[in-house]
Amino acid sequence: MIRFQRTLSPRLIRNTALALLGFAIPLASYAAITISNNAWASSPHEKTTMTDTATKFSASGFNITPLSNEAIQTLAKDLTDEERKIILNEGTEAPFCGNLLDNKKDGVYHCRLCKLPLFGSDSKFKSGTGWPSFFTPVDPDHVDPEVDSSHGMIREEITCARCGGHLGHVFPDGPKPTGLRFCVNSASLEFYETGDEVPALGLPTKLETAYFAGGCFWGIEDRYATLPGVLDVVSGYQGGDDSKTPTYREVCTGATGHAESVKVVFDPSIVSYSDLLAWFFRIHDPTQGNRQGPDVGTQYRSAIYTNSDEQMNQAKAFIQAQQAEGRWSKRTITTELRSVDDAKFYEAEEYHQDYYARKGGSCAAPIYPED
Ligand code: FE
Repeated sequence: MIRFQRTLSPRLIRNTALALLGFAIPLASYAAITISNNAWASSPHEKTTMTDTATKFSASGFNITPLSNEAIQTLAKDLTDEERKIILNEGTEAPFCGNLLDNKKDGVYHCRLCKLPLFGSDSKFKSGTGWPSFFTPVDPDHVDPEVDSSHGMIREEITCARCGGHLGHVFPDGPKPTGLRFCVNSASLEFYETGDEVPALGLPTKLETAYFAGGCFWGIEDRYATLPGVLDVVSGYQGGDDSKTPTYREVCTGATGHAESVKVVFDPSIVSYSDLLAWFFRIHDPTQGNRQGPDVGTQYRSAIYTNSDEQMNQAKAFIQAQQAEGRWSKRTITTELRSVDDAKFYEAEEYHQDYYARKGGSCAAPIYPED
C-alpha cells in the first residue's frame, strides 16, 4: 500500500486540459514521456514504485512530473519580458513593487508559469522585506529548494517542482510554526481568490479505483504496483459475507467466502481501466477456478469487482473477447464479475500490505506475454 506520503510527484496535464489551454504540442510530448514507460513492456521484476517511475505525484495528489523544455517554452509564451527574466532566468523584482505584496484576499497563489498551487493566503505574512512572504508552501512537494551561491553568498533558492520556474528564496527567519520565510517574487505567482475558477493545470489529478482478485494478494498487489499511473495498491478481502469484517485467518478457512483482492488507485489519464484489465489477464490465469497455481481455495478465485456501469460494461466485453479469441480461449474463463455494491472491500491486516516491497520475492504468477 503506497500512501500519499512520498516525494511523489502531479497532475497530469490532461489532454483535454491542454487542448483547452492551447498546449497541444507540449502535452503530446509530455504524454509521450509517461506513456512510453509502459510497464507491460518492461521486465517482470523491475519493481517500480511511485518514487521511481516517470510520473510523480505530490502528497496532495497533483502531478508534479517535471515538464519538458518544450512544454516550458510553450507555457512561457504567455509571460511578459519581466516575468521571463524572473521565472526563467532567476531574476528578482524590485522590492515593494510586486502586485501581490499587499494582497490580503483569501485564496491560493499558483505558479505563474505552470499553475501548480504553491502558497495559501493562510500562510502569508507581512515580513517588511518588500516581497510576498509565506511561512509554508501548500504542499512541500510543490516547492524545490536549491543552493544558490550567486552574489557572493549562500542562499537557498526555491523553484516550482513541476516547471522549475524560479520563485525566490527561503530564509530561516520566519514566524511560527515553521520559522521559515519563503520570500517570493509576485511575478512568479498567479493568485486565485477563493471561488475563482482555477485552470485545469492548477487542479489535482482525478483518481479512479478498480478492484481485482487473482490469487495471493501479495503477488497481485506487487504486479499492479509496477504500473505507471497506479498511485496506490491495497490488499484486502472482497466478495464474501459482508455481515462482519473478515480477518485473514477467517478468509483462509473459506468460510466467509471472500477472495483475496486488491484495490488499485490509478490516474486514468496515464493508465486506462482497459489497460488494467489487460494487465490483469497477464498476471494470473483466469481459468483455474478456485485456485491459482499451488494456492487452492475459494479465496484464490479470479474476480473483477466494478464500481461503475462503465467499468462493468468494459469488464464484461473484455472477458467475452478473451473467451472468444484471447490467450485463454481454449479453456473456460472462470473470472467472477460483480459490482462492489454487493462485494464490499475490506482492507487486509497491515502485515499483508506492501509485502513483497518489504520482504522481497513474489509468489505472483509469471507475466504472460501479450496476445
Ligand atoms: Fe511551475
